[in-house]
Amino acid sequence: MAGLLFGTGGTPHSAKTASTIDGIKRIAELGLDCMEIEFVQGVKMGEAGASLIAEIATKEGVKLSAHAPYFINLNAREPEKIRASQDRLLQTARIASICGAESIVFHAAFYLGDPPEEVYNNVKKRLEEVMHQLRHENNRVWIRPEIMGKSSEFGTIEEILNLSTELEGIAPCIDFAHWHARTGRFNSYPEFASILQRIKERLGRPALDNMHIHVSGIAYGKKGEIKHLNLKDSDFQYIELIKALTDYDAKGLVICESRNLEEDALLLQETYNTLLKTS
Ligand SMILES: [Zn+2]
Repeated sequence: MAGLLFGTGGTPHSAKTASTIDGIKRIAELGLDCMEIEFVQGVKMGEAGASLIAEIATKEGVKLSAHAPYFINLNAREPEKIRASQDRLLQTARIASICGAESIVFHAAFYLGDPPEEVYNNVKKRLEEVMHQLRHENNRVWIRPEIMGKSSEFGTIEEILNLSTELEGIAPCIDFAHWHARTGRFNSYPEFASILQRIKERLGRPALDNMHIHVSGIAYGKKGEIKHLNLKDSDFQYIELIKALTDYDAKGLVICESRNLEEDALLLQETYNTLLKTS
C-alpha cells in the first residue's frame, strides 16, 4: 500500500455542495486520497446514508475516517453526561463502520482542575466500557483519542500513548499542530522525529504503519491552541514534519485541518511526493 494518504477534515470547500458524497467526489477529482467525515455537531447520518457513502468511497478510491462530536467529556462530573459521551462515541463508531471508515477520532476529556492521573483513570475506565461494547457488537473500528492543543484538555502525547498501550482497539490520533501549540516547541525535524521514535518505542513498528495524523497551521498562546490557520500563515514547519514522516517510513492518513482545507492538503501531498522522489 501507499505510504501516506492525504485528505481533508470535512468536505473540501470547492465541492459542489457541503454533503459528504460531494466531498468524496471532490477529493477524488483533486487527486487527494482520503477524507474525515466531521460528525462534530452530532451524528445525524442514518444507516442507509452511511451504506451509500461506503459504496461511493469505494468506487472513487477514497479512504474515510470520522471525527466524533465535540460534546464528549469522559471526565464529566454528572453520570448522565458521561453516559451521553459514551453514547456519542458508540454512535460515531457504528455509523463510521458502515461508511467503511477504519478509524474514528475524538476529544476525550477536560481536566476541570482535577489531577491528571485521576482524569486518566476516569477516561480509561469509561473508554474501556465503550471498547467492551464495541467488541460485543463486533465493531473493529480503531478508536483514536486525539492529542489536544490546549492545556485545559486531556490529551498529551504520553496520556494518549498510555491509553493505546493499555486498551485494545485504541490507537493515537497524532495532531502535530496541537502538540506544537500546546508546548510551544515540537516544530523542527529532530523534535518531530523524537515523537515518531517515542511512538515506535511505546507501541512498536505497527503503530507507524497505521498512523492517523492531523496537521494544520495554528495560532497559539500561553494556554496553547487559539485557532487553526493556513500553513503558510503560521510558523508550523510542515516540510520538516513531512521529512521526518518520510524518514520513518510512516504510513496512514494525514488529515489537513487548515482553514483552506484542500489547498494545504494538496501542499502537504506535493511536499511528500517531492521528498519521496529525492530520497
Ligand atoms: Zn479533533
